[in-house]
Amino acid sequence: MPSPLTFSFELFPPRTPEAQAKLPRVVSQLAAVRPDYFSVTHGAGGSEKEGTYETLLTVVEHTGIEVAPHLTCVGSTRANIAAQLDRYRAAGVKRIVALRGDLPATAMSAEAPGEFHYANELVSFIRQTHGDAFKIEVAAYPEMHPQAANPAKDFENFCRKVEAGADAALTQLFYNADAYFDFVERAAKAGIKIPIVPGIMPITSYANTMRFCSGCGADMPRWVRLRLEQLEDDKAALGDFGLSVVTRLCETLIRGGAPGLHFYTINQAGPTLRLWQNLALPAMV
Ligand SMILES: Cc1cc2nc3c(=O)[nH]c(=O)nc-3n(C[C@H](O)[C@H](O)[C@H](O)COP(=O)(O)OP(=O)(O)OC[C@H]3O[C@@H](n4cnc5c(N)ncnc54)[C@H](O)[C@@H]3O)c2cc1C
Repeated sequence: MPSPLTFSFELFPPRTPEAQAKLPRVVSQLAAVRPDYFSVTHGAGGSEKEGTYETLLTVVEHTGIEVAPHLTCVGSTRANIAAQLDRYRAAGVKRIVALRGDLPATAMSAEAPGEFHYANELVSFIRQTHGDAFKIEVAAYPEMHPQAANPAKDFENFCRKVEAGADAALTQLFYNADAYFDFVERAAKAGIKIPIVPGIMPITSYANTMRFCSGCGADMPRWVRLRLEQLEDDKAALGDFGLSVVTRLCETLIRGGAPGLHFYTINQAGPTLRLWQNLALPAMV
C-alpha cells in the first residue's frame, strides 16, 4: 500500500505588530485542513531566533498541530545551537528543518563564518547530541543551489546531508516539474530512500514571484512569465492564472509519485487553501 502523503505549511515569524496580531487567525484557517505539521523559518545568523520560538508557541497554542522550527547554523557556535536544541526538546519539538542559512552579504567567500560551514555539519551535530530525538528535514535544490559549483557537486553535497542522518528533504520552490523528477531519479540511483517533498510557492504577484525565483535560482517557464507580466495590473486575473499553473504543477507532482507537498504560505491562508481546495487534497490522502 502506498504511504500516505505528507503535507506541511511553512510560516515565517511576523515582522510587524499588525502581522503578529493577524497570525493566530491565519494559523487557525490553515490548521482547519489538518496539515501534518507547520514549519517556522529562522533568520540566518540567529536574527528571528526569538521570533521562531514565539511563532512556534502561537501555532501550538492555536492548533495543537506539530511544529518544526527551522534551524540555521551559519554564523553560530556549537554552544548556541546546543542551547536552541535543548530548548526545542524541552518544548516537545520532534522535528527540525536543519539548514546552513544564507550567508551574510558581508561574507567575503562562499564559506560560512562561525563554527558550522554547511548544513551536513549541523545534521551530524544534531544526531551526535540528540540521537534520534528529532526527525531532521534538510533542503534540496532540484535546479541547483545558486552558490554550487555545478549540479553534480551540489547533488554530492545533498547526499552528505542524507549520510549525516537526514530523515527527509524539502525542496526549494520550482515551477518546472521535470527538474524535480530528475532530482528524485538521481537520488534513487544514488540509493537515497528518504522522501523528497516538493516545496510549493503559490503565485499571487508577478513582481514577488519573479523576485523569489531570481533569489533562489528557480527557473520560471517563459510562457508563464509572459502571461504573469501581462496580468500584472489585474490582481484577480493574475491570481486565477497563478492558481491554475500551480494546481497543475501539484497534480503532476502527486501523479508522478511525490510523497507530499510543502507549501510556502508566506503567512497567508487564502492562496494555499485555494490550491488545497482545487486539488481536493483531503480526498487524496
Ligand atoms: C525548505 C527550505 C527552507 C528554508 N528555510 C530557511 C530559513 O528558515 N532561514 C534561512 O535563512 N534560509 C532558509 N532556506 C534557504 C537556505 O538557508 C539557503 O538556500 C542556504 O543558502 C543554503 O542552505 P542549505 O541548508 O541548503 O545549505 P547546504 O546544504 O550547506 O548547501 C549550501 C551550499 O554549499 C554547498 N555545500 C554543502 N555542503 C558542502 C560541503 N560539505 N562542502 C562544500 N560545499 C558544500 C552546496 O552545494 C550549496 O551550494 C530554506 C531553503 C529551503 C529549500
